[in-house]
Amino acid sequence: MDFQKKQLHIESKLPNVGTTIFTVMSQLAKEHNAINLSQGFPNYDCSSRLKDLANQYVQKGFNQYAPMAGVLPLREALAEKMGILYSKNIDPDTEITITSGATQAIFTAISAFIGLGDEVILIEPAYDSYRPSIELCGGQPVIYELTAPDYQVDWAKMQTLITPKTKMIIVNTPHNPTGMIFKKDDMLALQDLVRDTNILVLSDEVYEHLVFDNEEHQSVLNFPELFERSLLTFSFGKTFHVTGWKLGYCVAPAYLMKEFRKVHQFNVFSVNHPGQQAIAELLSEPEEYLGLNAFFQEKRNLLQTAMKSGRFKALKCEGTYFQLFDYSAISDEKDTDFAQRMTTEFGVASIPVSVFYSSGRQDKVIRLCFAKTDDLLQQAAEKLIKI
Ligand code: PMP
Ligand code: GLN
Repeated sequence: MDFQKKQLHIESKLPNVGTTIFTVMSQLAKEHNAINLSQGFPNYDCSSRLKDLANQYVQKGFNQYAPMAGVLPLREALAEKMGILYSKNIDPDTEITITSGATQAIFTAISAFIGLGDEVILIEPAYDSYRPSIELCGGQPVIYELTAPDYQVDWAKMQTLITPKTKMIIVNTPHNPTGMIFKKDDMLALQDLVRDTNILVLSDEVYEHLVFDNEEHQSVLNFPELFERSLLTFSFGKTFHVTGWKLGYCVAPAYLMKEFRKVHQFNVFSVNHPGQQAIAELLSEPEEYLGLNAFFQEKRNLLQTAMKSGRFKALKCEGTYFQLFDYSAISDEKDTDFAQRMTTEFGVASIPVSVFYSSGRQDKVIRLCFAKTDDLLQQAAEKLIKI
């Protein structure tokens, strides 16, 4: 029997959300055969050691569900690493959960604690998953805007955003997309800001190993008082050049981790097993991640130097694998239009920074990802300095 196709009336939970800019720009780059410096991922492979280890663990039969919180050797290796790097004693049993990338860790952390009407302070420009994750839980994002060119937080101004409904503050250092890092004074100001309140801190530290010019990553792990109210998120995608593995982790004091796991167990239950085993073994070789600062600093320098003779102005980049460029000497266009034209006419895809602001703020700045081979960065710069 014939029936008429009829759509139900749906009230979208995210009426203003489209496809993420990362997918849009990568797709546009593909269609126009442009060099893709938009989405943040390496165009080179991970180490052959990691590939061998992954193969070995698949062959050894680690192919069924991993334990809900993650495999113990991986959690133990991470606890040891945090002890060495941040002098912080973390209990692998109760304070670490392995997740499907940092994105899932962020979503799970927000879902575990944010409910209808709760306010979450968000520093923009921000990684694009934070805001919809808050909104899906019925929370209300409260925006603190950083502005070009220095993107510094004025903590006294931040204080004015706190209300009795404030439940969480999300911070991200090193910061995507600006490349700014929090200094020790920022962390102390944050610690002061939340003292004697009921506010949680979600600290997204996926670029912990990408800090340049001899600065140190200021992890919440270095601030014991702050840690007691914090959930921290990390990504093996960034640390081992395997964004496609979607593996990461969350660290939090046991009383918060208990709530995190209540959500995690129903949102994914557990994550890729052979990948966890492989990374656990690789973590015993710290050279893999301790060399990242120098590796990416060289790439940042190469891109900045190669772009010097053109009209793009590089902004300060203290960490991450993103470099911002001010194009105001070239065009008055909106950054979304300019980024589109850069891709279609000049053959280099970037990310327009306005998309990371709820307000769509226009500072005439685009973001380039330099987790790319030197020759690709050179080729991109050659095209861009002609504009
Ligand atoms: N946070 C930030 C600031 C990021 O830039 C990214 C992605 N690049 C993530 C979280 C998500 O990491 P993952 O790919 O592990 O989900
Ligand atoms: N975090 C990466 C970026 O900022 C991409 C993540 C994604 O594609 N979802 O480019």
